[in-house]
Amino acid sequence: MQTRIPSTTLPPSGSGRPAQSRGFAAGANADPGELAKFQALASRWWDPTSEFKPLHQINPLRLAWIEKICGGAIRGLNALDVGCGGGILAESMAIHGARVTGIDLADKPLKVAELHALDSGVPVLYEKIAVEDLAAREPGSRDVVACMEMLEHVPDPAAIVAACARLAKPGGFLFFSTINRSPKSFLYAIVGAEYLLRLLPRGTHEYDKFIRPSELLAATRRGGLDLLEMTGLTYNPVTQVYRLEPRDVSVNYMLALRKPLA
Ligand code: SAH
Repeated sequence: MQTRIPSTTLPPSGSGRPAQSRGFAAGANADPGELAKFQALASRWWDPTSEFKPLHQINPLRLAWIEKICGGAIRGLNALDVGCGGGILAESMAIHGARVTGIDLADKPLKVAELHALDSGVPVLYEKIAVEDLAAREPGSRDVVACMEMLEHVPDPAAIVAACARLAKPGGFLFFSTINRSPKSFLYAIVGAEYLLRLLPRGTHEYDKFIRPSELLAATRRGGLDLLEMTGLTYNPVTQVYRLEPRDVSVNYMLALRKPLA
């Protein structure tokens, strides 16, 4: 599926996790069970009080961080959002002037993304394609590659990182976010978020799939990327406010990297 929305409207392998798991077709680095979770919830993607509330809440923070790292603005940059879901980040990058493509492997979130972009009149190109396939088709094509809150849902995150690295232009910026694998993240991201505070449906996250910063950094190094910044994203359950917290990567965290100039 490839739909152009008119502009007038809108852990590394080696971590013990098998690169291909649970019987996928060869080369398909996706988990159907994970995709099904997002399919089931897709209609609520743009409801800021829904299961996707945390994504709506963190979006202004991560968008501002992306713009800061890119030198203050993303206007005119060619950006790719990998695992875009319903398009919260993709659309916001387009509103800030980037030329954005969003890719995902789940149909319904992509459909929701397309309809929402049409409705809000924001030009975003959405496509159902594996990032590895897009990297083979359009290597070195993007100024910005973002892959947020997705790596902890795939069988082989390192292969996603490698494909993202391939997609970036020399000098391009890459952004990854995921959840650390630590006792604290088990407490906060699973027990707290899914059972106590009910911010997310039970079963949204699997602890074993969380990724330590050291593992993600190793994958980015293998992808030939240079680290620019790493920051935690903390949540205060009392004030219900998220913040960028560079010193606390114990639960949610993000990396900004750059592909070296050739
Ligand atoms: N990145 C978005 C959505 C995060 S939810 C945001 O942060 O706002 C995770 C998304 O990853 C879902 O839309 C899911 O369908 C997608 N996903 C999971 N595995 C994937 C894969 N292998 N390739 C592409 N998208 C995938």
